[in-house]
Amino acid sequence: MNTLKIAIQKSGRLSEDSLKLIKECGIKFSNGKGKLKAVADNFPLEFLFLRDDDIPGYVEDGVADLGIVGENVLVEYEKDVELVKKLGFSKCRLSIGVDRNWDYKDISELDGKSIATSYPKILENFLKGKNIKAEIHEISGSVEIAPSIGLADAVCDIVSSGSTLLSNGLKEADVIMRSEAVLISGKKLSSEQKEILNQLIFRIEAVQAGKN
Ligand code: ATP
Ligand code: ZN
Repeated sequence: MNTLKIAIQKSGRLSEDSLKLIKECGIKFSNGKGKLKAVADNFPLEFLFLRDDDIPGYVEDGVADLGIVGENVLVEYEKDVELVKKLGFSKCRLSIGVDRNWDYKDISELDGKSIATSYPKILENFLKGKNIKAEIHEISGSVEIAPSIGLADAVCDIVSSGSTLLSNGLKEADVIMRSEAVLISGKKLSSEQKEILNQLIFRIEAVQAGKN
């Protein structure tokens, strides 16, 4: 195949900047609202619009050749893909949030506590590395509400300004990882596809150089 399929988040915090980067690379395409696929007019690239959580798996399986996801999602799903390039947008932190009245000193205070998160793997590995035993409650959304409803003592969730934590009576107590959008690729690209990827990387680097 002489084209690359790139998986982009259908709608969410990565979508707009992912498409903006593609446009800044001089790649033209029209994506009708609600469409799940599109084809570029002037570059051998096809687009698949998916949930971000599904992107690493689709890239591993070869359904897509490339993808744009947050490093947090890439690390959480532990798929066998290449990290090609950091893209510099959708910067955020995966942080521990605790009740704002908790006189939190360090991570050892989480020993024996329960923590609600959508990132159980990252949290588990982090706690293991610190030799802390905590109960992890995996929930898929509205994580910040967990302490106030008695579901968990703390949360581990994505933070950028911290306003969601604040509005739920929580404060950012510790940073587990920093994340930004990254370009990932599958490991089974043909030599033609690798050549197209190199052209794409070249254009992305030119865009990034123009912003520095
Ligand atoms: P989907 O419906 O595709 O599963 P989602 O709700 O899981 O979407 P979003 O909230 O759109 O995901 O976030 C997508 C990614 O953007 C996150 O995985 C993270 O890398 C980054 N992100 C999340 N929140 C913020 C934020 N407040 N500021 C900057 N980047 C963020
Ligand atoms: Zn998601």
